[in-house]
Amino acid sequence: MTDFRDEVRAWLQEHLSGEFAHARGLGGPGREHEGHEVRLAWERLLGAAGWTCLGWPKEHGGRDATLAEQVAFHEEYARADAPARVGHIGEGLIGPTILEFGTEEQKRRFLPPIRRGEELWCQGYSEPEAGSDLANVQTRARLEGDEWVITGQKVWTSLAHVADWCFVLARTEPGSRRHKGLSYLLVPMDQPGVEVRPIVQLTGTSEFNEVFFDGARSAAGNILGAPGEGWRVAMATLGYERGASTLGQQIGFQREFDRVVAVAKRTGAAEDPIIRDRLVRSWLELRIMRLNALRTMTSLSAGEPGPEVSIAKLYWSEWHRRLGELAQAVQGRAGLVADGPPYDLNDLQRLYLFSRADTIYAGSSEIQRNIIAERTLGLPRG
Ligand SMILES: Cc1cc2nc3c(=O)[nH]c(=O)nc-3n(C[C@H](O)[C@H](O)[C@H](O)COP(=O)(O)OP(=O)(O)OC[C@H]3O[C@@H](n4cnc5c(N)ncnc54)[C@H](O)[C@@H]3O)c2cc1C
Repeated sequence: MTDFRDEVRAWLQEHLSGEFAHARGLGGPGREHEGHEVRLAWERLLGAAGWTCLGWPKEHGGRDATLAEQVAFHEEYARADAPARVGHIGEGLIGPTILEFGTEEQKRRFLPPIRRGEELWCQGYSEPEAGSDLANVQTRARLEGDEWVITGQKVWTSLAHVADWCFVLARTEPGSRRHKGLSYLLVPMDQPGVEVRPIVQLTGTSEFNEVFFDGARSAAGNILGAPGEGWRVAMATLGYERGASTLGQQIGFQREFDRVVAVAKRTGAAEDPIIRDRLVRSWLELRIMRLNALRTMTSLSAGEPGPEVSIAKLYWSEWHRRLGELAQAVQGRAGLVADGPPYDLNDLQRLYLFSRADTIYAGSSEIQRNIIAERTLGLPRG
């Protein structure tokens, strides 16, 4: 295991040089606009060297890496401050779903370009009337000859503006309601029936979009699971969100926390007893988060996910949002002014603004609390 960690560390150290030296630290939530081209080139280098999709089976180009090895990789990756991955939706969400539900032909078609960083994906679930209430999806698709024809609107679709493919939850049985009659379609983005309109976020950048399907087409075989069984497949994809990258994520959190402490010392905010209290509390909670992540790993390795799995998203997102508020507080009044016009934010301002989104995506805090109440505490449905 130490050998594996050493190998990852040495490879990253050697390759985060030359054209990639300046790619360190680029990208990530709230900063996806940074260095897309160089990060795409980096993704392909990682793929060519066998450092993508580590947990996938060897026959599909992965390494059959254990959970511990995947965690070690993500930790070293974060420690090296390597650029944020552009292929994470492919590797982390649709790839595992194709491995679970795809036919052999689908696996051969879709997995290699994800692994090599040649095709990027986006997630077409949310709609204007279907967010937390995802079963209310209204986008429709019907089979016409040997193609699906798709009409409807998705919203908040992260990275759709750079994606080659979208996995789309669509209603394929006219008149069906809620979870029934939905299908999970794989749709190419580069076609006349697909229009992507960027949405500008609080940070002044655009990393998610509205996506309009107006008679968009995809081959009849581009469906995961049987027609009408899309809900089951869609839920499986949600189950893959996060996972082994969590401990790596915490190394990024620690880096942000350290920056907040450094600014607090510089501005004198660290002498304010209330700020000191908040900093200490934040540090303690970061430690708790790490211990919980380690416990989760242990329970997942034993094949028995414990209740801590359900608190992870709620806990980190609420913590991160509070860290964003603290990041503003330690700057004092300077935090209220951008470095330059029109929207040149410093890292702490961006942290504050983007962390507001953390408690919304991948299941809002209210929804997470409902899940804990019902599934972990056995409370009656609210
Ligand atoms: C940065 C970001 C990236 C995203 N990327 C994607 C993406 O790539 N693909 C994609 O499909 N979607 C994406 N989303 C959308 C995300 O999944 C939805 O925003 C989320 O599911 C909430 O849905 P909504 O925005 O429609 O809010 P709503 O569901 O309308 O909720 C509004 C408010 O009501 C609360 N609420 C709703 N239902 C209940 C309930 N039953 N009990 C208590 N409170 C409730 C919510 O918690 C929330 O506070 C992204 C969102 C963000 C912020």
